[in-house]
Amino acid sequence: MRCGNCQAVCPVFSQTCREADVARGKIVLLQNLAYELIKDPKAVEERLTRCLLCGACEHNCSTGVKTLEIFVEGRIALTQYLKLSPIKKFIFQSLLTHPKLFKNAIRTGSLFQGLILRRQKNKQNTATAPLLKPFLGARHIPTLPKKQLSEKYGVLVGDKSKKYNVIFYPGCMSDKVYTQIGDAVLSLLFHYDVGVIMPDDFSCCGLPALASGDKNGFDALVKNNIGVFERIGLDHGVDYVVSACPSCTETLHKWWLQLSGNYSLKERDVLQKISAKAIDMHDFLYNVLKIDTSKTTPKENAAVITYHESCHLKKSLGISKEVRELLKLNENYVLKEMAEADKCCGCGGSFTLTQPELSLKIGTRKWKNIVDSGAEEVVTACPACMMQIADMLGRNQTDIKVRHSLEILAETLTAGK
Ligand code: SF4
Ligand code: SF4
Repeated sequence: MRCGNCQAVCPVFSQTCREADVARGKIVLLQNLAYELIKDPKAVEERLTRCLLCGACEHNCSTGVKTLEIFVEGRIALTQYLKLSPIKKFIFQSLLTHPKLFKNAIRTGSLFQGLILRRQKNKQNTATAPLLKPFLGARHIPTLPKKQLSEKYGVLVGDKSKKYNVIFYPGCMSDKVYTQIGDAVLSLLFHYDVGVIMPDDFSCCGLPALASGDKNGFDALVKNNIGVFERIGLDHGVDYVVSACPSCTETLHKWWLQLSGNYSLKERDVLQKISAKAIDMHDFLYNVLKIDTSKTTPKENAAVITYHESCHLKKSLGISKEVRELLKLNENYVLKEMAEADKCCGCGGSFTLTQPELSLKIGTRKWKNIVDSGAEEVVTACPACMMQIADMLGRNQTDIKVRHSLEILAETLTAGK
């Protein structure tokens, strides 16, 4: 319980060398939570937010300590004690819980983003926001697409004559920001003859609310989504629930059920089914559809790409070699490993906003590893990692493109393969 092995893998500890920043230190703090909360709640908050929830400590813990569960429960207790800020309360409990309102807000944002965003002519397609410097600093952010994914494709209802029917859960990032990831998922599913069910009223999976300890907001979002899944029906004709966002997949698979102790039996029954069917898209392609990747060799002039492993995909969902194998399908690219490919990029959802300096330091280490790999392009399987890496590359004016691994795969289809 006190071995300290987690020190070697914690991206925050590697920057600060503070015992309070590593899993062991946080667990000691949480063991005395009630006392510490009364003594100095702000200090507890300061220590608990200095964590990316990356799961490296849990993944490498030889005695199987469930650090992520301990940290999440700790954040919930802390937020109940300190109360949520009004801005977070509005975002998690009003904006995100009303999918139509959220859609309209993003649509309005996409129309008027030109007024505050300065597009950068770089390979990452990022923009800066000089007027928002007090909040965003020098951050490079993605621009919003003209049409959200659900607006582009409408409601998809599946096809029961197919061998597999899947519900596609795009998550906020693939639906509203990086819609090209959603395009890639859908083109791959259609190509491999899979029936696709995609409603247009899913809510956020709730992970951002959970990371902020907002159990009320999380519950409201989960219950919204339960309603959508119930309407679709999970008992007949739905084999899997796929996503291209590992954070969403992990939340659907683990957190929804894990934190549903006070839900009704009927709701828990739906969550059991969702948990059993939730799967990352790479896992689905490689382990369910069993796409043959054995015969492909890169062309002589293939472009060099490198792969950053998302924490949630590798450490929480156990998907690692699958992505590398699938990338081989595109013979126009050759994979060159970067150092510390599975080390966190420093995003951690709201960590990047609450701990900007630490996030930048961790991200800079990732940026250096990407540059040192000599790749023309960096690939990752997580939209949040894409955002953080694009920020790092954009800030440093580095001429390297960032894409989701599924975009590389989908490209083989349009090349007529
Ligand atoms: S959390 Fe696991 S790895 Fe870290 S000190 Fe405790 S037992 Fe060791
Ligand atoms: S979840 Fe990640 S950042 Fe948090 S303590 Fe564990 S290794 Fe460190």
